[in-house]
Amino acid sequence: MQIVMLGSINLDETLQVPHLPAKGETLIVAGIQQAVGGKGANQAVAAVRGGGQVSFYGRVGDDPFGAQLKSQLQATGVDVAHLQTTPATSSGRAFIVVDHEGNNTISVISGANALVKASDVTDLDSADVVMATFETPIAATLAAFKQAKRRGATTILNPAPAMPEVPEALWTLSDYVIPNETETQILTGINPNDGAALTAAATWFINRGVKTVLITLGDRGVYYQVAGQHGLIPAFKVQAVDTTAAGDTFIGHLVAKLDWPLPQAIEFASAASALAVQQVGAQPAIPTDTAVTSFLKEQGHE
Ligand code: ADP
Repeated sequence: MQIVMLGSINLDETLQVPHLPAKGETLIVAGIQQAVGGKGANQAVAAVRGGGQVSFYGRVGDDPFGAQLKSQLQATGVDVAHLQTTPATSSGRAFIVVDHEGNNTISVISGANALVKASDVTDLDSADVVMATFETPIAATLAAFKQAKRRGATTILNPAPAMPEVPEALWTLSDYVIPNETETQILTGINPNDGAALTAAATWFINRGVKTVLITLGDRGVYYQVAGQHGLIPAFKVQAVDTTAAGDTFIGHLVAKLDWPLPQAIEFASAASALAVQQVGAQPAIPTDTAVTSFLKEQGHE
């Protein structure tokens, strides 16, 4: 599967503190970790570990972090030939402050991610799948999805973080839309808390031209709806220690299995996320195809 990810990439810096700082307070940090993050980069890594060939389209700044992000993403096996360096710009950075109980505050510099342009999206000829999120500008996503549709490629939109005003054309151009519960509520105005509400929320997207809707429901699983077919695939029962990037793991692994029947692909991707939530961190927690297959065997799913 040849996958194009049009997406965000950030340097995540996590500071461990005794408690979240109060207004005006100065705190001494107990530890700091750096990692590559951003929904785009996380989903690209998940798609590679799921067995896909992934080409990443995006931007970093010309600060030292840009070169670091590019080489770290490349080291995971993602093709970074289309990850551009933007002059006089900061790379995307996220500053995460976390206390002992896992409560956090996050401040983000969008930096170069906000400068991704429609004209950046060229050479999509060999793509089977083009995927995007809302962490890069919608104008570029519209351009990428239009090219994808002209060439018969499948388009996948993860509408995260949710925003209230979405151009109607984007829904028409999206074959798959994959929101979580919060994003579903913000976008459709429907709280997907029971079966009827899930159907109503999925129908909201389908009425706007989306073909397949997958609503991820955390430890409740995934609801899917596509012409003439809908259902809920339950999550695997595991002890979650850190649910960061559960959705990104699900989406990347699902895309790598897009040529499978949908319920099987959802089950495989859910198993990948169930493994991810049992590990701390985002990208290091994303499992390989082989690890997911062994987990499914252990669970009695062949
Ligand atoms: P996001 O990270 O975008 O908020 P979700 O929380 O809906 O996304 O998680 C995505 C998928 O990850 C779920 O549909 C489920 O398959 C899996 N998952 C998330 N949390 C858990 C959990 N506690 N136990 C098992 N699977 C989980």
